[in-house]
Amino acid sequence: MRCTYKFPSDDFYCWRYQVWYNSYDCAYRTKFQTSPGCRDCPQGDGNLKRHSVKLANVRWPGAGGPEISDDLEVETVADVLAAALK
Ligand code: SF4
Repeated sequence: MRCTYKFPSDDFYCWRYQVWYNSYDCAYRTKFQTSPGCRDCPQGDGNLKRHSVKLANVRWPGAGGPEISDDLEVETVADVLAAALK
């Protein structure tokens, strides 16, 4: 199913997840490999190049490393969707 909802900050369409998304967030995910589902993604590589200067000095804030569980990602997505539906 294709999601057509677009936040004002969404500036590209993610073909893998079929959602509008923010290219900086995508670049951040790609740089720190925050989601297993975003691995080996040419679109993510392109967004990382696009935001490479902005992300050059950004460090991963998590104490346990860049990987997060799928459960945490599902919770994050659920929070975003709940906020959007308010
Ligand atoms: S890395 Fe790929 S799959 Fe992940 S949000 Fe970016 S475009 Fe989508």
